Amino acid sequence: MRTYQVCNVMEAYQNNWLRTSWIPRDGAHRIYIEIKFTLRDCNSLPGVPGTCKETFNIYYYESNNNNLWYIKESQYIKIDTIAADESFTQVDVGDRVMKLNTEVRDIGSLTKKGFYLAFQDVGACIALVSVRVYYKKCPLTIRNLAEFPDRVTEGDSSLVEVRGSCVNNSEEYDVPKMHCSADGGWLVPIGRCVCKPGYEEKRDACQPCRPGFYKASSMDAYCMKCPPHSYSHQESSSQCTCEKSYFRAETDPRAMPCTRPPTAPENPISTTNETSITLEWSPPRDSGGRNDIMYNIRCKRCVGDPRKCSLCGNGLHFIPHQFGLTYTKVLVTNLLPHTNYTFDLEALNGVSELSPSPKQYVSINVTTSQAAEAAVNVMLKERKSKDSITLAWQGPDHANGVIVEYEVIYYEKNQKDQNYTVLKTKSNSMTVDGLKPGTIYVFRVRAHTSGGHGTYGGEIELETSQEVRLPGSRTYVHPHTYEDPNQAVRDFAKEIDASCIRIERVIGAGEFGEVCSGRLKLPGKREIYVAIKSLKAGYSEKQRRDFLSEASIMGQFDNPNIIRLEGVVTKCKPVMIITEYMENGSLDSFLRKRDGQFTVIQLVGMLRGIASGMKYLSDMNYIHRDLAARNILVNSNFVCKVSDFGLSRVLEDDPEAAYTTRLGGKIPIRWTAPEAIAYRKFTSASDVWSYGIVMWEVMSYGERPYWEMSNQDVIKAIDEGYRLPAPMDCPAVLHQLMLDCWQKARGDRPKFGQIVNILDKLIRNPSCLKTLANDAAWSGNSLQDPCTPDSSAITTVDEWLDGIKMGQYKENFASAGYATLDTVVYINSSDLCRIGVTLVGHQKRILWSIQNLHTMASQMHGTHIQV
Ligand code: AMP
Repeated sequence: MRTYQVCNVMEAYQNNWLRTSWIPRDGAHRIYIEIKFTLRDCNSLPGVPGTCKETFNIYYYESNNNNLWYIKESQYIKIDTIAADESFTQVDVGDRVMKLNTEVRDIGSLTKKGFYLAFQDVGACIALVSVRVYYKKCPLTIRNLAEFPDRVTEGDSSLVEVRGSCVNNSEEYDVPKMHCSADGGWLVPIGRCVCKPGYEEKRDACQPCRPGFYKASSMDAYCMKCPPHSYSHQESSSQCTCEKSYFRAETDPRAMPCTRPPTAPENPISTTNETSITLEWSPPRDSGGRNDIMYNIRCKRCVGDPRKCSLCGNGLHFIPHQFGLTYTKVLVTNLLPHTNYTFDLEALNGVSELSPSPKQYVSINVTTSQAAEAAVNVMLKERKSKDSITLAWQGPDHANGVIVEYEVIYYEKNQKDQNYTVLKTKSNSMTVDGLKPGTIYVFRVRAHTSGGHGTYGGEIELETSQEVRLPGSRTYVHPHTYEDPNQAVRDFAKEIDASCIRIERVIGAGEFGEVCSGRLKLPGKREIYVAIKSLKAGYSEKQRRDFLSEASIMGQFDNPNIIRLEGVVTKCKPVMIITEYMENGSLDSFLRKRDGQFTVIQLVGMLRGIASGMKYLSDMNYIHRDLAARNILVNSNFVCKVSDFGLSRVLEDDPEAAYTTRLGGKIPIRWTAPEAIAYRKFTSASDVWSYGIVMWEVMSYGERPYWEMSNQDVIKAIDEGYRLPAPMDCPAVLHQLMLDCWQKARGDRPKFGQIVNILDKLIRNPSCLKTLANDAAWSGNSLQDPCTPDSSAITTVDEWLDGIKMGQYKENFASAGYATLDTVVYINSSDLCRIGVTLVGHQKRILWSIQNLHTMASQMHGTHIQV
């Protein structure tokens, strides 16, 4: 082992220097120096003077010159004094136990082309074994089919956004970006590339589809086998060609088999009723492989000689139509009495027009008898309540005889076969009672003349109104529902005499003026500490109203986790709102000041309080819209209370609120649920999303959600399924709860009541908090832990489908080529249709679950699922 050593411990005033040659900086901003050395314990050297040292110093000197032969001592910058963790004595050496020390130091913000390192010994017994100089970079990687080049990290701790370039035969779906962190790791992938049509993703590359396979769109994940009656002879086909006499309609999905026109309808029969005829038939023997069969009817009139026929013309009435029928039955009216007709019935499907061969048809001959009686009626108007509908109509234009009465037939939509009702009236209107609320009914009316019944008029669908919801026992009243907003203040806030208040000091700045702390002494009550918000002078009437709206909202709440209103001062100036005093101020700055100082149980206790306050608000039908750690206040007992209830606050007051492009108005993007950002769908479920962000803020001691990503990137990343990773030392159950709050479908998020219950269970059973999100890492051992969700148990497509009770589609997925879990993550609803999952409810369930797979995959660092 070659070493540099010095051991002049017997002589005082040592100043020995060792200098490296010039080391090029190579574009790095921060350099790490790893030193391995051994150091002799001064006490172990007999007779050594007190000047013996157990440390040495390291220095650097930045320079563009790579060939300096002399650098003055004073020009060096000191990096550190290095002491040994392990020194050794003579005995150690005898035993051959050499204690090697390793120390790492770093220097940042280098700017010149290179530098020299120097080691100064001031009287130690030391051997320098190795010096390794290095910097960190995020290594070249391929993620989401985009290649990210080697990237040297920045000197400070910021994330650097790097743009990736799509691999061969792929194209950008959304600009691929990742963030290179200071310690050389890639974080927060957003955007992705997708394989072009004709290519599929395999091992981070796009491979051509084999002959016999195809991929139609870059949005499809994988090449699929050519469907029946089609072929592809070449590699990288984006579609398959139909075999001879088979066709593909323009709107047919590429995965559908090629099809052909149907044969003719079969077994036509007719029933004659005077001058009306009902025709019925059976579907064609061969549908051509499609289910979009329709029927056309052509009519010929044959007077005398059946071979001398002419077309029937426009006078006939076909119910429901003559062309494009989807049922195998039609009623033909307005026929001439005592006449022979021939009807040709032909079947068509979506590819009939593409086939050059003539369409096949079947004919039926019919003869009519005497004239018809009453004609069809028409409905005119409606009036609805929750259990009745009023109809009115005009009589038929040409009633054959005097109208005796009308018959109204009605049934619940889609329930005709089970139950229908017939009512009679002599008038031209009728109120039908006893209906179910919020239900669609179908009505038809016919006239009855002395000559018999007319035909029923067309169907009309009408819906009864919804049942009126009885208000809950206590519901929040919006101050805007008051004509006079001052009345709302009088109803909900107590007027306090200004002489009872003593203002002591300014503690913050609100939207309308200063916030101070002070004391309130009401007659007959003990003195309490209060916060006092005042309205600055020169306000407009609207500002006064908006300022006091916070009091008329807050005054309606009474809960230990909601900031309590003591009262208002409106009779003299300045106008003030008095609330309980929260000694520790807002939660975000409180946590930042006490980074790492609480136990997990304490943090869960704070979260429980916030959830309980929010449950109270949501039970009162109040939607907060700006739930964030900055809007939670903390008292001296660390009790957290929800605050900030002003009407204008989300729009004006919150510096986090950014303009959103489409609908105007300001929204605190990082805290807000995607549906609230996209189309202002603010609900208690969107408050739950924000609550998930607050959980993250709390568990990370006030870290900024999504760090310094831009608002636009946050919106995009969320849309693509990215969710915030677990903060350091965060229990897995808590991160899972956050992920549940960030479900894309708002119906899938937990309710505040459920959140309170979950947190209560955790507080009662703290062992559940032991498994940390970052070391559980979905690694399968979490299965034994009853507290950890077991999504990790799912490893195959079949298990996944069984898990979401969609096992009936296993075959569909398998035969469409979705063999492993990582292949299903790109599936969209049109893919589902194509592979035969046509029920919308089932599609929804599967897509929700895929959304979860995304989240799961984004937590699975180092496994093979790439989203
Ligand atoms: P606000 O206008 O409600 O956002 O209040 C501005 C700032 O004043 C807050 O961020 C708090 O730091 C402080 N503050 C407001 N209300 C209270 C209170 N009840 N107790 C203590 N500090 C308060």
